[in-house]
Amino acid sequence: MSESRSSSTFIELVEQFARLDQSPATAPEPGAGELTATLLVGDFESSCGNCRKATLVHGVDRHTDISGWDEKPGGGCGARFTDIASASRAVTAAHLRQLRPDLPLRAH
Ligand SMILES: [Zn+2]
Repeated sequence: MSESRSSSTFIELVEQFARLDQSPATAPEPGAGELTATLLVGDFESSCGNCRKATLVHGVDRHTDISGWDEKPGGGCGARFTDIASASRAVTAAHLRQLRPDLPLRAH
């Protein structure tokens, strides 16, 4: 059963290195607990406070999709949104509450 493990191919090694390469600089420390982020709401699009990539605003508990950048699901960092903040002067606190009443506003 352990046969496949001892006969790693060159391709497998390359894939392992590729995976290591993909780990983001902001990766959570082991044992630091769950990855969380602030939902940043801008004028036309919103982004994830952890990885700074675009995200959906409505109906998302976690950053799973990069909205507007890639149509197929995925691409988000998986952080759970724990609060919400404005990334634009035009987005008011009242607007944020309206968007996501379930998320508290980030303390300034
Ligand atoms: Zn993210």
